[in-house]
Amino acid sequence: MKINHNYDNLVPNYLFAEIAKRTNKFIAENPDKKVIKLGIGDVTLPLAPVVVEAFKKGIDELGEKATFKGYPDYEGYEFVRQAVSDYYASFGVAVDKDEILINDGAKSDTGNFGDIFAQDNIVLVTDPVYPVYVDSNIMSGREIVLAPATKENGFCAMPDENVKADIIYLCSPNNPTGSAYTADQLKVWIDYALKNDAIILYDCAYEAFITDDCPRSIFAIEGARQCAIEFCSLSKTAGFTGTRCGYTVIPKELERDGHNIYKLWYRREATKFNGVSYPVQCAAAAVFSEEGQKQIKENLSYYKENAKIISSALDELGIYYTGGKNSPYIWLECPNGMGSWEFFDYLLENANVVGTPGEGFGECGKGYFRLTSFGDRENTVEAVERIKKLLSK
Ligand SMILES: *Cc1c(COP(=O)(O)O)cnc(C)c1O
Repeated sequence: MKINHNYDNLVPNYLFAEIAKRTNKFIAENPDKKVIKLGIGDVTLPLAPVVVEAFKKGIDELGEKATFKGYPDYEGYEFVRQAVSDYYASFGVAVDKDEILINDGAKSDTGNFGDIFAQDNIVLVTDPVYPVYVDSNIMSGREIVLAPATKENGFCAMPDENVKADIIYLCSPNNPTGSAYTADQLKVWIDYALKNDAIILYDCAYEAFITDDCPRSIFAIEGARQCAIEFCSLSKTAGFTGTRCGYTVIPKELERDGHNIYKLWYRREATKFNGVSYPVQCAAAAVFSEEGQKQIKENLSYYKENAKIISSALDELGIYYTGGKNSPYIWLECPNGMGSWEFFDYLLENANVVGTPGEGFGECGKGYFRLTSFGDRENTVEAVERIKKLLSK
């Protein structure tokens, strides 16, 4: 037998292992120093009380003969899909409940969606990039082209008319750069996709962090229904990283190569996926209730305030950065022309603060650094004070 040799082409991702190695070494050699981690890409606040209540109620129902449930629908229960549809309507985007599929998170669907596309499609990703888009396509043996995000375009990569692409991954607000596309910028991508007969796979896992008028959904933009699929998740919105629930939106009329995309994906899901557990779907629906929205917004405000504390310090220091406003991520230019890893060591040794070197997300991340607002307030404030003291010298 032979394995899938496309896996040989995966570049080992040492990023988080290398961060852990350097951090642990520093802690071992400096046991008296308090190291603060502003590198975490995971939420830290607990589930909202109404979510926990709904979750428990769902479990109780499974424990009673009269309310027991077996396999859920592949696309998710109607009550959750309706709740998601109403949520979209709350910010002015019309998405029908029958265009929504509930899943166990955005990583699964963004990583698996390529299953329904041929191998010889050209894939476009922005650089720097969330590694799932790249690695899942390397596993399938697809050619990948890069759209650079740089200081010049404010880390909002835009299409190059001379580059042909069939499948386009966009992430807005972006991980790792924190930048978000405006409506005009998204329209440029949509026009490019339509011209190329391409499909945009749009990841808006951080839409709940948007505070200005950047679109919360690609379907807020004209033409998107003819070329886009949207992936969202409750992971960052409602602290579901350990609970696992997300949703994918596929316009019913979206077709390519003589096939309906919704129907193809539904066929794929019916074959390889047996749905999300009932209690998790109950918990997810509670997120979209009036009380749920109120409660999750308290957590989101907490993270947003942390982001503001970090970005205000960078403003004071005169350091260039993107993000922080529509995103829990702050992407900064390493001061004094330092490299990403050089700045990592400098910050660890002199401020005892850990962040994420930007070059771990792609070539265009060289010389950049990611801080996150998912930590607790006290530590964020202390880390920022140390950074200010170190860099204003
Ligand atoms: C965290 C994150 C997600 C969410 O993934 P889940 O599988 O839903 O937890 C999706 N996309 C990006 C870019 C992320 O950073």
